[in-house]
Amino acid sequence: MKTYDVIIIGAGAAGLSAASAALSNKKSVAVIDMGNVPARKIAVSGGGHCNFTNAAVAANKYFGHNPDFTRSAISKISPNDILNWVKQHKINWIEKTSGQYFCKETANDFVNALISDAKKADFFMNNKVEDLDKNELFRIKTNKNFYTAKSVIIATGGISYPVLNVSDVGYKIAKKFGHKIIPVRPALCAISTKIFSSELSGISLDVEINIGKEIIYDSMLITHFGLGGPAIYRATVRNIDADIHINLLPNTNVFEWLKIQKQQNGKKSLANILSSKLPLRLARWLTQKSNKNIADYKDTELKLISHNVSDIIVKKDDFKLYNLQSAEVVRGGVSTEQISSKTMESKLCPGMFFAGEVLDVTGDLGGFNLHWALSSGRIAGENA
Ligand SMILES: Cc1cc2nc3c(=O)[nH]c(=O)nc-3n(C[C@H](O)[C@H](O)[C@H](O)COP(=O)(O)OP(=O)(O)OC[C@H]3O[C@@H](n4cnc5c(N)ncnc54)[C@H](O)[C@@H]3O)c2cc1C
Repeated sequence: MKTYDVIIIGAGAAGLSAASAALSNKKSVAVIDMGNVPARKIAVSGGGHCNFTNAAVAANKYFGHNPDFTRSAISKISPNDILNWVKQHKINWIEKTSGQYFCKETANDFVNALISDAKKADFFMNNKVEDLDKNELFRIKTNKNFYTAKSVIIATGGISYPVLNVSDVGYKIAKKFGHKIIPVRPALCAISTKIFSSELSGISLDVEINIGKEIIYDSMLITHFGLGGPAIYRATVRNIDADIHINLLPNTNVFEWLKIQKQQNGKKSLANILSSKLPLRLARWLTQKSNKNIADYKDTELKLISHNVSDIIVKKDDFKLYNLQSAEVVRGGVSTEQISSKTMESKLCPGMFFAGEVLDVTGDLGGFNLHWALSSGRIAGENA
């Protein structure tokens, strides 16, 4: 049986990027994946348009036990490098709000370009890796065969979105070789909470969210089971051991505004006035469906309502992350403590490399996760 210089477990963004880098170093490369086609997560990412990088890539967009671990890889592979690669491959792209880069037509363009860069590797698809041993060489056991290599890159991704066939084998192998595993939980996901009535479901609005010391401005969606939308997704990737504070009218001093309205538009109902800045259904819910004119509210009552508008508190014990099934990514994974940030090689097992989401590195919403997968994959591939 052939011994490869490098075997990559996982044909996602990190694995394919690693394969092309290792091939550029004239290595013999094999890629093993349990799926029938490579990069299924990229294909569904960004609503099928794959948000592949973000102009704001920086260590502070990453979360995990040591976000600084990302510095080396993201300083070597910048958003511009990825954009130039996209241009070289003649992929049509668009920049959406604030430096978010997407494929214009379809994420499959991105997938095909990654595959074409890695085409000189041997691909073993529908092969589920079950175990890995090391003597002089790495010996990889799949449900179909054994494979041997001098180096191995583990790029098995996270375990969210299981409809795409995911596995925890990367964590298991890492643990077997003495690596610490940071417990995994859903991130970039909705939350279930009863803070808003389900009759408000479908309402989307721009909000300010405070969680711990973090402030997020983005849109929030009220759902039948809780809250979703980018603002909530971004909250869930942060440390969630704090209450979530939601301001429905950021940049407005609601109490001062309502006092002026009371003087100028006293005969209008409070719900009507609030609906000039908020969806009517939400305004009516906030006023408990009262038709009372604003002039009939005491200032103390207006103060209370203002508070309800600008500081809705979802207590940390009153919400749950809305599950691994729908989460875009996970927080946690293989601890970065025992990995070199310069090469992605294990400090415990020479020749074993890790890349992408399998590591305890999670990016914010907006293309940061694919940027991490692509850049860490490339570094691992160059060094394997
Ligand atoms: C719905 C959705 C939308 C997203 N949108 C975006 C976005 O727009 N922008 C962004 O930056 N990020 C987005 N993400 C996150 C991003 O897709 C991932 O973080 C990224 O793809 C991770 O890349 P990876 O190569 O590390 O892992 P993956 O892409 O998950 O690849 C891992 C590969 O390993 C294989 N594998 C696992 N276990 C085994 C095994 N036992 N044997 C063999 N093979 C195995 C899998 O089959 C898979 O092909 C989204 C995620 C989801 C679910």
